[in-house]
Amino acid sequence: MDDKPPCPNSTNSFNIGSLKNRQRSLTKDHLIDSSIKSNGIVPSFSLLDPEFSPGHRIIDHFSNRFSFNLVNRKEKEIHKICAQELDEMVLNNSSIPNTALVITDASIKNDIATSISHIHSANRFLIKTVHHASFVTSSEAELFTIRCGINQACSLDNVSKIIIVTDFIHAARKIFNNDSSPFQIHATAILKELRKFFIANDANTIEFWECPSKLKWRFHHDADKDSKSFMVTSSYPCKISWDFCKKSDSDDIINQWKMTFQASEGKGKQFLDLLDDNLNAIEPSYTKGGLWLQMFGHSNSLCAHTTRAITNHAPTGEYRLQFFPNLDFLCLCNNYPIESRRHILHECRRFNGY
Ligand SMILES: [Zn+2]
Repeated sequence: MDDKPPCPNSTNSFNIGSLKNRQRSLTKDHLIDSSIKSNGIVPSFSLLDPEFSPGHRIIDHFSNRFSFNLVNRKEKEIHKICAQELDEMVLNNSSIPNTALVITDASIKNDIATSISHIHSANRFLIKTVHHASFVTSSEAELFTIRCGINQACSLDNVSKIIIVTDFIHAARKIFNNDSSPFQIHATAILKELRKFFIANDANTIEFWECPSKLKWRFHHDADKDSKSFMVTSSYPCKISWDFCKKSDSDDIINQWKMTFQASEGKGKQFLDLLDDNLNAIEPSYTKGGLWLQMFGHSNSLCAHTTRAITNHAPTGEYRLQFFPNLDFLCLCNNYPIESRRHILHECRRFNGY
């Protein structure tokens, strides 16, 4: 664990500690904000790290020593099957003293991440490790706790098999991913540790098991409850991670987009606000084509019809009345003077099965 976090060369001139009491009382919040945002936002990459040089990587020499057990999301009863597989895995390894079962989890509350790992061996609970960090993303916290778990498991005597159980398997997959990313600092530390572990004995292996939190599988559920049981407050100034900074910027932009969408004329006066299962208005989103198109995107004609209904640009009587007042605008049910969108969707017996 020999991270060298990036150190600013000069002291931060906005540091709240350099102000007089009166100045501090007047401008405290702004300066704390400024201090948080400007302190240590430096991504650290090491493109030339030997762990990533082709021919020398873990995947080049030890590809048969690590494996991933992923949840098959196409299964109908994934939770039941996944819990059974995890139980079987524990049963198969419970009597073997040289296996370390490492349960990892992280949770974030009020921008403070709690990373936790529980290590069991031969049916005994051995080590619990807890770390807190401010202003990091959940992926970073999850990867960090995997790193701690591996570090501690490797330091135990006679361990030849490490089993990592995580609900964030894509964080674990980043360990073996050669892309440059802010996670590299953890990935290289883990790879160095694993290299020593694999070289020490030809039989040494590591397995990564995915365990979704929703499963509430007993070992992982204990770690999950543990990680949420802490009430930590941060002390300023704090470091902020590169990823958290980017996430924070992205969240700000999306919130601004949502506010503009709701407040501006851009969406049109006729826009039909749809509700989700909890009766909240569906907000714009950029993921998977947005929340509206996700529901209708599988059919071009349905998508076109829905778009026309949402924007009220459909050939209804209401539309004809506005743009072609000489045409007929009555509804064919003869129960309503104007064939409006509201009438069609909620009242008309031609469409509502009366
Ligand atoms: Zn009608």
